[in-house]
Amino acid sequence: MKNLIDKAFYTHNLSYEELIYLIKDEQFNEYLYSKADETRKIFVGDEIHLRGLIEFSNICKNNCQYCGLQKNNHKIDRYKMSIDEIYQTAKQAVIMGYKTIVLQSGESEVYSVDELCKIIRKIKLLNVAITLSIGEKNSDEYKELKEAGADRFLLRIETTSPKLYKALHPSMSLSKRMACLHYLKKIGFETGTGNLIGLPNQTDESIANDILFFKELDADMVGLGPFIPHNDTPLGNYKGGTFEKALKVMAITRLLMPNINIPATTAMETLNPNGRIIALQSGANVVMPNVNETKYRSKYEIYPNKICINDNPDKCRNCIEAKIKSIGRTISQTKGFRLHK
Ligand code: SF4
Repeated sequence: MKNLIDKAFYTHNLSYEELIYLIKDEQFNEYLYSKADETRKIFVGDEIHLRGLIEFSNICKNNCQYCGLQKNNHKIDRYKMSIDEIYQTAKQAVIMGYKTIVLQSGESEVYSVDELCKIIRKIKLLNVAITLSIGEKNSDEYKELKEAGADRFLLRIETTSPKLYKALHPSMSLSKRMACLHYLKKIGFETGTGNLIGLPNQTDESIANDILFFKELDADMVGLGPFIPHNDTPLGNYKGGTFEKALKVMAITRLLMPNINIPATTAMETLNPNGRIIALQSGANVVMPNVNETKYRSKYEIYPNKICINDNPDKCRNCIEAKIKSIGRTISQTKGFRLHK
């Protein structure tokens, strides 16, 4: 097994069968994490990119079975921030030192593409990179958002298994999702994707295919998180994923895609109080602290027990800065685009 990890470390390639073998292995996790950390250091360095996350609306037209924001969940209080409120939140984040603003929402048409472009143009005047995480749009709309100045687009695939995707995403299409991702890459977005680990009926074989898909797409960013069941969803009674497995898949992804950006996800810290720091020492190089005001945080409950829901943007920034310093790493002062080395 060590040979397989070394092969991934030196060649950044593994076959489907080798990937499955590595995902199933439990004996060499520590060696895997140390080689993923070494790869991170060689290819993307010690700097950590902080992205200020604005969850600007929890309104969603979809029913992803694992997600607390799904349309059928009538228990949540829906909100939509105004354009000025989004801008003011971004401005505060820039004052705090963020070089990227991530605009995230459920998938909906409550903002027209014109309105979204207006927000993007306004925020771009603050001299930051903008990542959009707003779901599926048509090609003309993606183009308009790009032309307005958005730099990156995050569209998680969650699983590449056709059967599982269909079961989890009523009225959505895996092929359309994949086509959106390829199109985003084609028109020049830095494109991020990712998956959930530990979904009901997910196999190691399908996780191996997910990783191969990230590679085939040449994703610029890959975010992985454990599935955490939400009581107000149809999957509420299922067993969730584990921190360890999500960490392992993340580390393997780093070995195979050495120069991409990989976030230490908030969901990891929900399952392990030191989850983001452990992830940053096992291949990750990005953190996305929430910059929303406290009043919105508990309403953006994709999964339960999210960290920091009672905190404010200053507290989140100070907390993550202290954690990063405690492991001898530094915070990047750049916009943190993918390094092509
Ligand atoms: S995962 Fe995204 S698209 Fe799916 S229900 Fe949740 S917010 Fe909506």
